[in-house]
Amino acid sequence: MKNIAVIGAGTMGNGIAHTFAQSGFKVALIDISEASIEKGIATIVKNLDRMIAKEKISEAEKSKTLANITTHTNIAEGVKTIDLVIEAATENVDLKLKIFKELDSTCPEKTILATNTSSISITQIAAVTSRPEKVVGMHFMNPVPIMKLVEIIRGYNTSDDVTNTIMALSKTLGKIPVEVNDYPGFVANRILMPMLNESIETLYNGVASVEAIDTVMKLGMAHPMGPLQLADFIGLDVCLSILNVMYDGFKNPKYAPCPLLVNMVRAGKLGIKSGEGFYDYSESRKAEKIAQQFLK
Ligand code: NAD
Repeated sequence: MKNIAVIGAGTMGNGIAHTFAQSGFKVALIDISEASIEKGIATIVKNLDRMIAKEKISEAEKSKTLANITTHTNIAEGVKTIDLVIEAATENVDLKLKIFKELDSTCPEKTILATNTSSISITQIAAVTSRPEKVVGMHFMNPVPIMKLVEIIRGYNTSDDVTNTIMALSKTLGKIPVEVNDYPGFVANRILMPMLNESIETLYNGVASVEAIDTVMKLGMAHPMGPLQLADFIGLDVCLSILNVMYDGFKNPKYAPCPLLVNMVRAGKLGIKSGEGFYDYSESRKAEKIAQQFLK
C-alpha cells in the first residue's frame, strides 16, 4: 500500500496526511475548501518546523514529507489510483454518507475506505457502499503526529483481511492500533465522555470550582490535563454531540449530557475554538500556551 487519500484538511485530516507522508506514503489531501487546504498545509509546515527545532527530523525529511503530498478540491480527481482512503471530513452523518457513496462509485474496486469518525456508526456508513467488507474505522487521536493510539473499528461486515491490513499499516506509521467493535462511542469516547460529563455535572452541582475539579484529577489521578480543560480542548459542541450519539444509541440515561454543557453550547461557549469554555482563552496566546503544554 503506497497511495493514500485523505478527505478533509482540517484538524485531523492535516495531521493524518502529515503522518502518512512522513512515513513515505504518497498522500492526496482532498478538501472542498481551498482555504482549508491552505491552512492544513500551513499547519503541516509549522509542525514539521517544530520537529526540526526539537532535532527530531532534518530539513531534508521535511522537504521529502511535503513532496509526498498533493492537494485536490475534487474527490474523483484525488482518488483515481488510491489504495486506501481515510475520510476526516466534518462530523455530520448525512455528509459522511454522501462522501462514502461518491467514494464507492469513484475509487478502484480494491480500495479500502476508512473513516476517522469519532462517533458515527461504521456499519451505517458501510451500508451505503457496495463494499461493506472494505469499510473500517481508523480513529486517530488529536494531535495525530504525536498521539500513538489508533482505534481500529470493525463494522458489522468488515472482513478479517481488511482489519488485519489496517492494523499492520498503522504499525508501519509508528502507531499502536487497538481493535474494537462498532458500538456507540467505540471504546475511547465511551469511557472518556462520561468522565468529562461527570466533571461538568460536579461543577453544575456546586461541589467544587473549575480549578478545583481539574486539580483533583491532575494531581490525584496523574491525568496530564484536567477534564474541564480537556473538554475545552476537544470542543464542548463535539463533547455534546458524542454524548448525544451514545444517549440515542444505547437509550441509557447515564449518557445524558449535563444541562450545563447543553447551555454552554447554546451560548456559543465552545472552549478554545470560541475563546471561552470553562476557562477564558480570549488572549490567543493563552490558548496556544495551553495547547503547547499538552503537546510536549
Ligand atoms: P474540522 O472541522 O477541523 O475539518 C473538517 C474538514 O472537512 C474541513 O476542512 C472541511 O472543509 C472539510 N470538508 C467538509 N465537507 C467536505 C467534503 N464534502 N469533502 C471534502 N472535505 C470536506 O474537523 P476535524 O476536527 O478535523 O474532524 C474531522 C473528523 O475527525 C470528524 O469525523 C471528527 O469526528 C473526527 N475526529 C476529530 C477529533 C478531534 O479532536 N478534532 C479526534 C478524533 C476524530
